[in-house]
Amino acid sequence: MSEVRTRIAPSPTGDPHVGTAYIALFNMAFAKKMGGEFILRIEDTDQTRSTPESEKMILDALRWLGLDWSEGPDVGGPHGPYRQSERGDIYKDYALELVEKGHAFYAFETAEELDQMRAEQKEQGLPQKYDGRALKLSAEEVQAKIDAGVPYVIRMKVPEEGTCVVQDMLRGEIEIDWAQIDQQVLLKADGLPTYHLANVVDDHLMKITHVIRGEEWINSAPKHILLYQYFGWDMPTLCHMPLLRNPDKSKLSKRKNPTSILYYQRMGFLPEAVINYLGRMGWSMPDESEKFALADMIENFDIQRVSLGGPVFDVEKLKWLNGLWIREDLSPADFAQKFAEWGLNSEYVNAILPLIIPRIETFSDVADVAGFFFKGQLDVTAESFAEIKMEQETLRKALQFALWKLEALRSWEKDKIFAEMKSLAQAMEVKPKDFFAPLFVAVAGTTASVSVFDSMTILGPDMTRARLRHAVNAVGGPSKKEAKRWEKEFAEL
Ligand code: GLU
Repeated sequence: MSEVRTRIAPSPTGDPHVGTAYIALFNMAFAKKMGGEFILRIEDTDQTRSTPESEKMILDALRWLGLDWSEGPDVGGPHGPYRQSERGDIYKDYALELVEKGHAFYAFETAEELDQMRAEQKEQGLPQKYDGRALKLSAEEVQAKIDAGVPYVIRMKVPEEGTCVVQDMLRGEIEIDWAQIDQQVLLKADGLPTYHLANVVDDHLMKITHVIRGEEWINSAPKHILLYQYFGWDMPTLCHMPLLRNPDKSKLSKRKNPTSILYYQRMGFLPEAVINYLGRMGWSMPDESEKFALADMIENFDIQRVSLGGPVFDVEKLKWLNGLWIREDLSPADFAQKFAEWGLNSEYVNAILPLIIPRIETFSDVADVAGFFFKGQLDVTAESFAEIKMEQETLRKALQFALWKLEALRSWEKDKIFAEMKSLAQAMEVKPKDFFAPLFVAVAGTTASVSVFDSMTILGPDMTRARLRHAVNAVGGPSKKEAKRWEKEFAEL
């Protein structure tokens, strides 16, 4: 068998997610155990959502955790470039190859036509998918449209009947009816590939032998299997890992649990403990020991030990494990060094200094003014908001709406945060100054604090959201009935 090669293929569209680290860990453990390679590829074909900042955060966070890759956009390698946006016209050429072979076709429908098609299908109770209308065009009609400059996409052909059998390392055979599978767009009107085309082409060119990814991709597998057949390429082995869950068993989401690796870094977790905990997600050591290092996991790795029951990511358990790591593995000297790296590194301290220097007279004032920068969750209760001059109902809503706004915010910059909060205040008809007061309490624990927007920027999105979520609960979050009404109100703002 050829050398085992696995990959993590993140899309740089947000914070570095613990789910990405979890999948990266299992890919790495599998490859290393088999004496193979683990590589990193950036899937940034969605140009409107991908950002270089997000890419950098993802790479930094994975490295912080100790998940090293041997090929990637930052380290290069024989199959580069490893950033899809830099791979030029290769995807288009492959899409055209499939058109030539009769496995894909040009389609010219506008967004409105597609909307109408789906609306009609919905009305008739049919599955909503492309109905294949462009396949009825003659070769001459197609050519005439292309010559006339009508925008087009390229779609793949998909059998109308029968079932696709997906072989999965953990799940065995999964049967999916072809009738459920859409004639997927491979190349968009802007000439860029969709995830499906770029992912298959790159896995092939980068000689990936095993695709280990989250179970949310199972329904994409039939399209990928078909693409490998159409191209005449060997198919990598597929393995769909169970998704991480919140303690209430719902899919891990930032609305309920902090999901950014940066949050866990800011909270002062050790990377060894986070990796250890992620290794416990659906997997166990042969002797069931709870505490183990990455090297132990690799040495004992067997993917068949992954259990499919949804693994629960429980921050309390992670804290307990982190405590063990701190007590059992750090000498006082290590502790001092790691603590300083965490809280007293120059980047963090330099961000905070300009805010606190105008407000202190002695070093001993620092803890009072800046203590909240070094804490996790604050000791905020309903009492903490007693001084806020706002109707209770408005206060509860202001905090919840602010949280919803900040959950939706994609780029975490001071000006953007400020603009969002100011426009929310205006929409809620509260004076900005009054509106910001409870935000101060939620984020810093007091209204007499350094700028709340600077603080939010420095604390980062997940820590800020976690504190706001805590504040919402402290003042009493919306009841089920209220939540519906509030959501509607919020949407109409
Ligand atoms: N870019 C995809 C993601 O963001 C990769 C999925 C896959 O591993 O095929 O998760």
